[in-house]
Amino acid sequence: MDYRARFVVEPGRKVRLAKIDPSYTGKHESHEKALPVIRKHLERMDKLQYLLYADADQSLLVVLQALDAAGKDGVVRHLFSGMNPQGTSVVGFKQPSKIESDHDFLWRVHQHAPGKGEIAIFNRSHYEDVLVVRVHELVPRKVWSKRYDLINDFEKLLVQNRTRVLKFYLHISPDEQLARFEQRLEDPSRHWKISVSDYSERELWPKYVAAYEEAIEETSTKHAPWFVVPSNHKWFRNLAISEIIADTMEEMGLELPPTRVNIADIRRKYHAAVRAQNKEQRASARKRG
Ligand code: AMP
Ligand code: MG
Repeated sequence: MDYRARFVVEPGRKVRLAKIDPSYTGKHESHEKALPVIRKHLERMDKLQYLLYADADQSLLVVLQALDAAGKDGVVRHLFSGMNPQGTSVVGFKQPSKIESDHDFLWRVHQHAPGKGEIAIFNRSHYEDVLVVRVHELVPRKVWSKRYDLINDFEKLLVQNRTRVLKFYLHISPDEQLARFEQRLEDPSRHWKISVSDYSERELWPKYVAAYEEAIEETSTKHAPWFVVPSNHKWFRNLAISEIIADTMEEMGLELPPTRVNIADIRRKYHAAVRAQNKEQRASARKRG
């Protein structure tokens, strides 16, 4: 299935999250039956990341946004099962510190953009500055409403510097969120995940939906597309996201870089080193004997 084409938000299109089924699982009947497909995508990602890192010419930025308990942490864990931690980073964006909020909203973000050969995953991102900030009226409308253009320009800057930008909204239903809150409540090993604000934020669900819809409409561009991923089923969410990432990386034209050394020369050095080592071993064997 081409989930890139299915879940991408075409530039200029209206987004109505209520019209998108968060329980969608395509033709896949169950997690068990989908496992080989998921594994295949992870293997593709692993191979492609090796090339990305070796080539050290392009980079990839993955942005994860969602309401509480939609699974951003789960996606991070899943993606890392198909990547070498070397050359990758995860950045969680929390409430800005004093020094961060003394600067423009992109100041803290830009420094975490992936360098050549790297993949960065943003667990929340600069989008919080048009989401939570809007819903809680932390700055006036005239300030946050100008940020869409600034975000588009910022992402264009990254793209022109050879970074692919993929943005995922993990779409869950209020029922599913409540079911996950219950799991957290019933499982002491997950109590650390609970915060009081989970419930106050939940009451603001319609305001968040409106903020997400507008943010996605205003900033899904050809160079930095948004994908709305049905996420009530964790396994399907993982399958779709890893497929979209692997398909995108396949298009990046990643190849092993040309050899930087003279291989014939190095081969001679290698054989000389082998001869020297053999000689040394024979000498010390004679000494012992
Ligand atoms: P969590 O992702 O559960 O660790 O929570 C991080 C919290 O930081 C969330 O409540 C976010 O809404 C909040 N947050 C992240 N970025 C911003 C921002 N720019 N302004 C205000 N709150 C933010
Ligand atoms: Mg949270």
